[in-house]
Amino acid sequence: MYDVAVIGGGPAGSQVAYRLAGMGYGVVVVEQKERLNEPVCCTGIVSQECVRSFTIDESVIFRRVNSAKVFSPSGKLLRLWRAEPQACIVDRAALNLAFANRAQGKGAEYVLGNPVSNIEVGNDRVSIKAARQGDSFEARAAVLATGFGSRLVGGLGLGKVGDFVVGAQTEVETIGIDEVEVYLGQEIAPAFFAWLVPTAPQRALLGLLCRHSSGLYLKKLMASLLAQGKIASASVELSYGGVPLKPLARTYGDRLIVVGSAAGQVKPITGGGIYYGLLCADMAANTLHRALSSDTLSTKNLAGYERGWKRRLGWEFKVGYWARKFNERLSDTQIDRMFDIIKSNGIDEALLKAGDLSFDWHSVPILRLIGHQALSKVIGVVKLPLHRRGRDQRESDSIN
Ligand SMILES: Cc1cc2nc3c(=O)[nH]c(=O)nc-3n(C[C@H](O)[C@H](O)[C@H](O)COP(=O)(O)OP(=O)(O)OC[C@H]3O[C@@H](n4cnc5c(N)ncnc54)[C@H](O)[C@@H]3O)c2cc1C
Repeated sequence: MYDVAVIGGGPAGSQVAYRLAGMGYGVVVVEQKERLNEPVCCTGIVSQECVRSFTIDESVIFRRVNSAKVFSPSGKLLRLWRAEPQACIVDRAALNLAFANRAQGKGAEYVLGNPVSNIEVGNDRVSIKAARQGDSFEARAAVLATGFGSRLVGGLGLGKVGDFVVGAQTEVETIGIDEVEVYLGQEIAPAFFAWLVPTAPQRALLGLLCRHSSGLYLKKLMASLLAQGKIASASVELSYGGVPLKPLARTYGDRLIVVGSAAGQVKPITGGGIYYGLLCADMAANTLHRALSSDTLSTKNLAGYERGWKRRLGWEFKVGYWARKFNERLSDTQIDRMFDIIKSNGIDEALLKAGDLSFDWHSVPILRLIGHQALSKVIGVVKLPLHRRGRDQRESDSIN
């Protein structure tokens, strides 16, 4: 019997496996894909903080990014720039492989091409049934790291992620694009945004997240960028993926922990989930270590995992989700007007100078923006569904 069976060999699953195998536990990772570096519908942008914290190897980094051009619905431009790189674009398939290699290096066993179809929790073990030739695995605990929309999680009585968007992405040949571009507008990507992210000279990932029909919107955007001369051609093949916007109702149970996108641990403002998933994977490994070493793997003993990630990320999820829903209600005219005010009042510069515009931590800049008097005239009276923290309140006041 293994100590821990991890289901899903994405970044979150492999990080839990790496940490636990490194502590000497017997770990198996069961993955449905045949190869660990199969293509993933993901743009692969992660912060420098994430690269440093999880020592992401240079070999998987396409390039570093220190600026982005954000376009309003009518084409107004806001350019965000810092001297130092803020983020990295990674080869997402290679990243999966690198994390898995690291876990294997510590002794974790990987079983590939074997989708798990059922999980049963018993008194002293978890039994995991996989589809291939009736394989089954037994472990003292299981970690579900199955990504967005897994039926396995739903079947365990842990609830569902409360809200989500759907993404579509493709690779394009670009003309003269060397900065990340972000496009806003209800006609472009309703309720979310679209992006053009250069990965190599004349190559970029073009994608968007929205509430529905993401493929149709992406094709429309491709046609528009072709007409503008920004792209020369695009692959006809689109890939699709879902992104949770709210965490799962409960992320632990008897002998069970859920991490990463399966648990809804994604930034609601950008849809980025790699870094938060990795942070939660570390917290899951720490909780499991304590529970395995005392052989107390009950629901009560694993609850500390959820308390931990809520302490670290709960506020970001709350403010980010509220801002995401708020943004959904803004008309294109309001967004355009906000661009004017941000530029004419130097709000972008102030946020950049104050160091608040962070790739991963969004609550402070959101609250600052909302607290700005000129902006609030455009967006109307804002009733926050949360109690502001004293510090955030003071910071948002100081910019006015
Ligand atoms: C269009 C798009 C763009 C994105 N861009 C970014 C970005 O730029 N930056 C960022 O941080 N995030 C981005 N994300 C989100 C990011 O891809 C996810 O948050 C991240 O992949 C979550 O990692 P994970 O390990 O939790 O899950 P995943 O990476 O989804 O891994 C889950 C693994 O579990 C396996 N699995 C599932 N079910 C089973 C089963 N029953 N049995 C066995 N194995 C199973 C899957 O095959 C998969 O390998 C994007 C998402 C989309 C859709």
